[in-house]
Amino acid sequence: MSDFHVGVSGLVKVYPGATAPAVDNVTFSLPRGEMLALLGPSGCGKTTILRMIAGLVDPTAGEIVLNGRSIAAIPVHKRNIGMVFQAYALFPHMSIAENIAFGLEMRGVDRSERDQRVRRALDLVKLSGLGERRVSQLSGGQQQRAAIARSLVIDPELLLFDEPLSNLDAKLRDEMRDEIRDIQARTGVTAIFVTHDQEEALSMADRLVVMSNGKVEQIGTPGDIFDRPATGFVARFIGSGNFFPARVSDKPGLLEVQGLGRLKASQPLPASGLAEILIRPHRLTLATAAADNHFTGTVEHIVYRGQVQSMTVRCGEQRLQADLFTHAGQLPQIGDRVSLAVAAEDITLIGKADL
Ligand code: ATP
Repeated sequence: MSDFHVGVSGLVKVYPGATAPAVDNVTFSLPRGEMLALLGPSGCGKTTILRMIAGLVDPTAGEIVLNGRSIAAIPVHKRNIGMVFQAYALFPHMSIAENIAFGLEMRGVDRSERDQRVRRALDLVKLSGLGERRVSQLSGGQQQRAAIARSLVIDPELLLFDEPLSNLDAKLRDEMRDEIRDIQARTGVTAIFVTHDQEEALSMADRLVVMSNGKVEQIGTPGDIFDRPATGFVARFIGSGNFFPARVSDKPGLLEVQGLGRLKASQPLPASGLAEILIRPHRLTLATAAADNHFTGTVEHIVYRGQVQSMTVRCGEQRLQADLFTHAGQLPQIGDRVSLAVAAEDITLIGKADL
């Protein structure tokens, strides 16, 4: 862990009276200017990690390093870390500008510099001209922007977001997702955010830490996590998928899957035995006669989803989901026999099958 800006190592938290650790030996790091998502189901320990980095919760064990030094002994207000919470935690009796100026005032920044920095922060989050408003006079999205401005104005070493979008409606959430990403890129601030929403994590983060039960399941780029899930948990938690037990064939590179027949995989396979494979529904295409890796089935069910048509296809004893783009010409109907193909590199081996 040499070339990084923020890192945690061997981080553990056992809350008093708890039987299992909330955070169990977690290690990750990120370079300056990157945005990292802590992703996992409710209760997996994400918020606890964020709070330990912020200094709001004491670690039971482990180290937190920011900008080359351990920050364990540094109190919250001296860590120079900005925080944006789910409930925006703006002071309702102050104007937006006063809210944003608060942190600067606490740090003894003089009036004229304060005003200048508040104006710049308001510009950055596109709230110019609204500084004199009260919190109650702003929409949810605007309040979120104000909260971001307030945490950025102190020029933090690190910005932490705890489920920043969960209070917003779907459309606003999409907008703010792009907005936060844009603000982060423009300021170059290193950021960590917590979410249980995989789409949010995949679309906003440079790197993801996927967690379950206090432990790290996988660390990687959105592409790594989505296309090359390291564990069954990650494969099931992210996106939708078809999971099959597969027998490793005597012939190199081939798998035998009941109902689908012999499939060629590009990943290295174990020498023998059973493996579990994942095929994402959108990686299946209608097969041409010449296609490698194809199999036939009957369309049992169709759900139209706008961009894609989601089909349940029965292949022998096996059922699978295939998502076809709706612009792909003539689409199959219920009852049709279809031939589906999957590229060898789109078959992901996710471990040994427990059979
Ligand atoms: P969520 O998305 O629901 O906030 P999370 O992944 O952020 O979940 P944490 O809030 O970190 O998870 O909680 C991890 C575990 O620690 C949970 O089992 C939770 O009940 C427990 N926990 C969290 N805070 C405390 C606390 N102050 N005292 C005792 N146990 C706690």
